[in-house]
Parts: sequence; structure tokens; C-alpha cells
Amino acid sequence: MSTNRPLLVRGGTVVPMTSPGATFAADVLIRDGRIAAVGQGLPTDGADLLDATDALVLPGFVQAHVHVVQSLARHRAEGLPLLAWLAERIWPYEAALEPHEVAAAARLGVAELLAGGTTAALDMGTTHGQDAVFLAASELGIRLTSGKCHMDTGERVPTRLLEDPDASLSEAETLGARWHGACGGRLRYAVAPRFVLSCSDELLQGAAALARRHGYLLHTHASENPDETRVVREATGVGNVAALARFDIAGPDTVLAHCVHLDESEFGLLARQRTGVAHCPGANLKLASGIADLPRMLADGVRVGLGADGPPCNNRLSVFHEMALAGTLHNLARGAGAVDPWSVLEMATWRGAELLGLDQVGRLLPEWKADLVVLGCAAWAMEPAGDPAAMVVYGGGVEAVRHVVVDGRTVVVDGALTTADGMAIRREARAAATTLTRRLGWS
Ligand SMILES: [Zn+2]
Repeated sequence: MSTNRPLLVRGGTVVPMTSPGATFAADVLIRDGRIAAVGQGLPTDGADLLDATDALVLPGFVQAHVHVVQSLARHRAEGLPLLAWLAERIWPYEAALEPHEVAAAARLGVAELLAGGTTAALDMGTTHGQDAVFLAASELGIRLTSGKCHMDTGERVPTRLLEDPDASLSEAETLGARWHGACGGRLRYAVAPRFVLSCSDELLQGAAALARRHGYLLHTHASENPDETRVVREATGVGNVAALARFDIAGPDTVLAHCVHLDESEFGLLARQRTGVAHCPGANLKLASGIADLPRMLADGVRVGLGADGPPCNNRLSVFHEMALAGTLHNLARGAGAVDPWSVLEMATWRGAELLGLDQVGRLLPEWKADLVVLGCAAWAMEPAGDPAAMVVYGGGVEAVRHVVVDGRTVVVDGALTTADGMAIRREARAAATTLTRRLGWS
């Protein structure tokens, strides 16, 4: 949705993400959801104004892997590695979710993403209640690609999450018909089998076929944890990336979250097939999963974006947290400057948008979609001004987010959500989490 009145983002330093280091003082004029002009002293006639004085103006951030439906389990799933975390906390939680709780979780997650400057995300839902995720995105104004999660096998999985593969994929097809392209193309559908260990061969094959039939993205997890990777290797004889590729879950329309434990050949496979990888360092540290070899992936030409993953494994959906980690963590193995901050910013903007298959998103250029974030340099750690990428990646934080525009619609002004009552969302989430965790016997 875009407003009819033009919008002028005035007086900022524009970081258009057209090339590393490019910055200039300029206004950004937005009309009908698109960037109409970028330049100095643009006329204000009839335009709504957003003040960008003493601020950086960047393309909105893109996250390539999140789970907003997990928001109510945040701060209640601590100290566990992946497979135990799933079996003891996340799957029982997801199995217990009622539709109104999916809605409360999704609204909290989407509000947090927007208030933190993330304007587009690739999200994995749960087995049931996916409409509520799209409704939250529709109302709050994020550019969201999401899909229900598919599971039909696996150990310690509650029966409510296990579905007949045909019925499960048929529901996805119905959801895709309802939501793919909705809100003027802002909402898109992704087919989302959870991971190899949750899916029969039939389900993986069907998921790929469904995605290709309709032009949906494919989204799954791969090689996150050593135990998961070992079990997949024992079952299939190859690593996750190669196992998924056997089912055609590979290629430019596929995003694999994590890819921490790859064998030598899988780096080449990812690069050759142009499969997207969502690097999630925050979640990988929290669950002790390991450290993905991001420098190697970038050197090999693998397409990589960033993601916070789920609120219970991070515990925040802050792109700034992921950027700071991506820009520092790899120095341990590769030395200082292993991944420079401009490369990190690219992953968090246009490279992430490319992973999601979003057209004309991720750069501030005339005719491109008007998704942008204004970062106030009044945030303490962003002073004094220096290299803009270092300011954002190392010194930035959600407290720096002044204004956010998605698809030409202003969704955050002066740090506050404009599309919904932020306090009401928080109260709703608290109440829902209290009753849900009581039902689960967690409190
Ligand atoms: Zn995940």
C-alpha cells in the first residue's frame, strides 16, 4: 500500500548501496511506492516530510531467515543445542499454538522487525495458522515472504505437527493462491519444509514441485548443527546441501538457512547452483551450532544474506546484531577485516533482496521500490561520523532507527510504529505467552 501524497525524506546523508563507499547529501522523494528522485533541494510542495537531518538514509534492511511465530517462546528456551531445543521447547510450543496465539506472536515479531529497520524478511511459519502471519504483515506493513512449515516425519515430533504430505502441500497451495502477490506484491509465498530430518523424500520432492509450479521461493534449514549433519549424512550418504539438491531444493529460487557444516564439495555446489544461504551468526552462537565459513562462501561467489532466525534462539530479531557479528566473528579464523563492513551492509540490503527474489529492492535508486530506513546519528555509538558502513555495522543498533518506509508507506516515525499500537501488541504478546506457557507447564 502506498499513500497518494508524495513523501520527502529531507536533509540526510544517503547511502544508496550502489557501490561500496558511495554516500552523498541528498533528499529522497517518494511517490506511489517508488523512489521518484534522489537529489539535493528537492521541492517540498504537497509532500509529507520526514526529517533526516544528522542521519543516514539507507535502503531498508532485508533479513533472509526469521520465524515470527516463535516470538512467544522467547526467553523460555535457554541453554539447549538445536535438536534438544526443537524437541523439548520449540516443537511442543508450536504444537500448542492456537490461532490467536500465532497472531500475537506474528504481530510481536513483525513489529520488532519494522521498529528495528528491517523492511523485508523471509519467514518460516509453523504447521497451522499461517493466515495470521500474513494478516500481521498486511496490517503492520512489512514486505514479507513466508510460508507454512511442512513436517511429516522425525523423532520426538508432536503429532499435531506431522501432516500427510499431500494434504500439507495442498494447504500450502491454497495459502499461496490467497497470499502470493497480495498487498500490491508486498506479500509473497515460500514453500518451507522444515529440514531434511522432518521430511520424507515424497514431501521434499513435492515441495520443490509445488514451488516451481507457481514460482514460489523454497526455504529450509540445512547443516545447522553437527548432530543434525551427521544423522543426515548417515541416512543419505551426503551432506545436507547435496541431499536437498537431489530433490531439486537448490538454485536461485532456494534459500538455505545456516550452512554451518559443509563438506568441501558443497561450497562449490552452492556457488554453481546459485543457491542462496542465510547466514545466522546470532542463532548459531546461541545454540552452539558452530560458525559458518562466511569468508569462504563469499570468496567462492555463494549468494549470502543475513537472518536473526527465531526469537527463542537469538533472542532478538535485530539485523544490527547479525551485522555486527558477521563483521567481527570471522576475524577469529581469518584475521582482522575478514568480512568488511560494506560487504556486510550489502548482505543486509540488496544481496538479501536478491536472495528473496525481490525486484528493485535493496538500493536507493530512482524507480526502485521505496523501502528505506533513516538512522539517526544521535545514537551514541554512531558518533562521531566516519565510514558510514562502520557506523552502521559496528556502531548501529535498533535505537538508531528514526524512520522506516516500506513500499512508500511510513511505518515508523521517530522510532514509533505508526501502523499499529505498539504497546497493545506488547500487552497482547505478554498475555498470550503467559497462558500458553502455563498450558505447556513451563510456568
Ligand atoms: Zn530457523
